Amino acid sequence: MGARRKHFIKLLGYYNESSTFGQILHSMSTIPLLYNDFPTFLKQYFPFKVQKISLHAGFTCPNRDGTKGYGGCTYCNNQTFNPDYCQTGRSITRQLEEGKLFFAHKYPAMKYLAYFQAYTNTYAEVETLRRLYEEALAVPDVVGLVIGTRPDCMPPALLDYLAELNQRTFLLVEYGIESTDEQTLLRIHRGHTYAQAVEAVERTAATGILTGTHIILGLPGESDEQITLQCDRLSKLPLTTLKLHQLQLIRGTQMAHDYLLHPEEFRLFHHVDDYLDLVIACIQRLRPGLVLDRFVSQSPRELLIAPDWGLKNYEFNHRLQKRMRMQGAYQGKLYAM
Ligand code: SF4
Repeated sequence: MGARRKHFIKLLGYYNESSTFGQILHSMSTIPLLYNDFPTFLKQYFPFKVQKISLHAGFTCPNRDGTKGYGGCTYCNNQTFNPDYCQTGRSITRQLEEGKLFFAHKYPAMKYLAYFQAYTNTYAEVETLRRLYEEALAVPDVVGLVIGTRPDCMPPALLDYLAELNQRTFLLVEYGIESTDEQTLLRIHRGHTYAQAVEAVERTAATGILTGTHIILGLPGESDEQITLQCDRLSKLPLTTLKLHQLQLIRGTQMAHDYLLHPEEFRLFHHVDDYLDLVIACIQRLRPGLVLDRFVSQSPRELLIAPDWGLKNYEFNHRLQKRMRMQGAYQGKLYAM
């Protein structure tokens, strides 16, 4: 076996001195993932490869325009949301077509989920939202929607419309909960409570809409133990998907300023193994059926202060798999019903 091939297989944690390359490939294809991953979940719905395309639909956020607060969450710099093809001012159709071009050269048969990601994507009149969502669904090869929003931005009339939309397309509503700790939410100026998040998740899931969330690991004031306890709480909610993100310190944010004043209150995971261990502790506490969509955020390097591991998403996932195997860990191993 060539040195590069050997190195790569070692990186994935599958290397075995006595096996041929063919035997190792076979074992890689038969060993199950140690957690429920998002691509496998999507296979329940689609017989083809599906990729999310991030969109900037021109929304703002109630935590920035004064409705909930000014200045936004202390860690937020919305420039981090947008890849090059996703710029304000371009129509939804154009952003999707440009996103498709970006991916299609690799996988010509790929289909797409329109991912309304930047800012708060339910923060407008229902008619405006309906027009934007339906514009996305009218683009060829777009097979569904993922809508990112805040827990306090799901009025009943919009939920009624989404429940109807859910009858005709794939739909996932993703709430930014960020923390289950009310003190932390106050501290980072989220402008909503965890109780509101629970209410929004329960109301949305009750309509049959797939409901997801994301939380940030490493928010100031939260210990590892508190973070893993959050996984117990989240496991009890009727969630389908969950994203875990490492706290990223971003230039120009209030949090970057806070860090300068009180660096001792922050946990920035300068070494990726520390973050991997916390993620593994979380995964083991999570409900076995929950689908884990992502474990890392990737902000543009020019905006990122720390941590910068130089790892792509798939590289992180490979390391995670390898470390979980080494530790005998798997999703739900420590799940407390
Ligand atoms: S993180 Fe989301 S809710 Fe917070 S300020 Fe940024 S866009 Fe608004």
